[in-house]
Amino acid sequence: MNKKKIKIKRSFKILLIILITILIVFSINKNKDNHNISVEKVKDYKYILVNKKNKLSSYFIPDNLVEVNSCSLGSFYLEEETANAYEQMCLDSINDGLNISIRSAYRSYDEQKELYNTYLKLYGKSYVDKYVARPGHSEHQTGLAIDLESLECDIFRNSKEYLWIRENAHNYGFIIRYQKGKEKITGYGAEEWHIRYVGKNAAEYIYKNNITFEEYYELFLK
Ligand SMILES: [Zn+2]
Repeated sequence: MNKKKIKIKRSFKILLIILITILIVFSINKNKDNHNISVEKVKDYKYILVNKKNKLSSYFIPDNLVEVNSCSLGSFYLEEETANAYEQMCLDSINDGLNISIRSAYRSYDEQKELYNTYLKLYGKSYVDKYVARPGHSEHQTGLAIDLESLECDIFRNSKEYLWIRENAHNYGFIIRYQKGKEKITGYGAEEWHIRYVGKNAAEYIYKNNITFEEYYELFLK
């Protein structure tokens, strides 16, 4: 083999090594941004962190889903502890003269996929990136999240039901998950209607300190 050929062969080898290194680094970074949650390793289910970076598998279905009986006009399912907390909150809100209902609760991976694709077709990528979770990245797949509505007012943030939820939800273990001004941390635009069950201790801390669940997670659960 002449010198020229050896040189070309060597250059090719170096190029190949560089390419493989780039591919490895790229795949590591990709995984960092798209961490697959192993639910069986989560110590306390109500603290599970599902967001743009943390993804549930397409097969995951909570094993303790129950149908919601109160403050709900349709057939909606939630994780059992969440359903009990919601029913207690519902009863107290009725006593305070309010009319809260559910627009969405547990959603399967496939339902989220359908929803995502429908919104993508209707409103385009920049809208869905801000408001709709990709399949596997939605808290609704956990059964811990509820989209509320007011039966008195079409725009939830203008309703007295929202004012009540804003001041009282933490007493039942719920947080308003996506707040105005926190978009950079949560990855989503404000959604006054989307509440998430985290239990009373976490909810009270998050409410009093005006932080996100991501920040609470960094402080106490990581
Ligand atoms: Zn929601």
